[in-house]
Amino acid sequence: MEMKSDHLDSLHWRGMATIKAVRGTRDLLPPDTNLWNHVEATARSVFARYGFGEIRTPIFEATELFARGVGEETDIVSKEMYTWEDRGRAESDRGQSLTLRPENTAGVVRSYIEHGMAETGMLEKLFYIGPQFRRERPQRGRYRQFWQIGAEVLGPPWSGSDSALRDAEVLEMLATLLNELGVKGWRLALNSVGSAEDRQRYSAALRDALAPVKDKMCPDNQRRAETNPLRVLDSKDPNDQEIIDGLPKIADFLSEDSRTHFEQVKAALDACGVAYAIEPRLVRGLDYYTRTTFEFTVPDGSGLGTQNALLGGGRYDGLSEMLGGPKTPGIGFAIGEDRLILTLRAQAAEQAAKKLDAFIAPMGVAQNPGALKLAQELRHAGLSVEVGDGSFRLRKSFDAADKLARKMIIFGEDEVTSGILTVKDFSKGEQEKIAREELAAALKN
Ligand code: AMP
Repeated sequence: MEMKSDHLDSLHWRGMATIKAVRGTRDLLPPDTNLWNHVEATARSVFARYGFGEIRTPIFEATELFARGVGEETDIVSKEMYTWEDRGRAESDRGQSLTLRPENTAGVVRSYIEHGMAETGMLEKLFYIGPQFRRERPQRGRYRQFWQIGAEVLGPPWSGSDSALRDAEVLEMLATLLNELGVKGWRLALNSVGSAEDRQRYSAALRDALAPVKDKMCPDNQRRAETNPLRVLDSKDPNDQEIIDGLPKIADFLSEDSRTHFEQVKAALDACGVAYAIEPRLVRGLDYYTRTTFEFTVPDGSGLGTQNALLGGGRYDGLSEMLGGPKTPGIGFAIGEDRLILTLRAQAAEQAAKKLDAFIAPMGVAQNPGALKLAQELRHAGLSVEVGDGSFRLRKSFDAADKLARKMIIFGEDEVTSGILTVKDFSKGEQEKIAREELAAALKN
């Protein structure tokens, strides 16, 4: 015993290296965790309103689930999974290859099949919140353990699970969730990758188109051009973009059915007023997608750097059969919760740092009522405005205005009688005269 404490002391004194969280993982601490809890509570509340129930699947699964479900040729399965041979504990207990889940859809569908959920004949609406694991190169917004908030709508075909209405409902729900969380400037990119047969025809056309040019592409794309040409479309390699932009488009390979389905999704989104942009190259990184695919991104400056995809998802009509289950069309998405939190923080900071549109400086106490009236007009026009006080010295008005607002409006007797106001722009250090009727429009710039 004595020896042990001596030993510990000596370790301490020798300045032994401390143990740190593993690269690509991190601790979430208070008060940060308050925002995580707020995001999750909001998601739970929105999901409940749309009839979703929670599912919690294991964090590790048989490796084969992802190999079959996500696809051997995807980056996730070919290079990013945490896989190990789990030893059997007894003679009777066979060892098995296990993998930390890199995503949750395959696990949900596995669970759906295992519990015979298809037998109810009903549409299942399931959501999950939890960590996922991928051995990616860590950077801002990209971690090796990250959290996803996701949901799946699936069921036998007669439950209406392949209806375009479901695609639109899921997208409309996501728009609602992002708006309730206060995410600003999000953009929905939408595409259809068609049925498995459409994709096969398209893959063949891509392979043909790539054959004569692939030698000019990066090694990854040369390999993909052979093994999985659809993946070439995901490539960010700057040198290959010109070739990729010239490749055939999936839209020209959609069957009549796939085309009609996509038109129906768009019509339902239009009816709900959810804006979207069609993105022909959006095929997404997982093999199981069919028909509708989508991604929500946020504008530059939202704290995500190059990782600007907040969430992604799509339809996976053949996944259940790939996993040995009954025909079970479905659609789902996964939100990167880490990225959602980064976005909310960055946008809140930007908001806090934002200055008011104008500060009105009355030049005497007699101008106070008129100044307040002008503030009312401008505020009604949607501008953010603060009013000083006529008893302030000019210097004090300038200092207050410079701190609070982008521009200062000088409001003296002359200005009132002439209807021409003097406006100082702090960023340009310039002063200009603007007619009162044009003031609101001028301040908006
Ligand atoms: P995926 O499962 O690849 O479709 O990704 C869905 C969403 O999860 C992405 O849009 C990201 O927001 C998030 N995500 C994926 N990989 C990571 C990662 N390594 N770190 C953080 N978030 C991620």
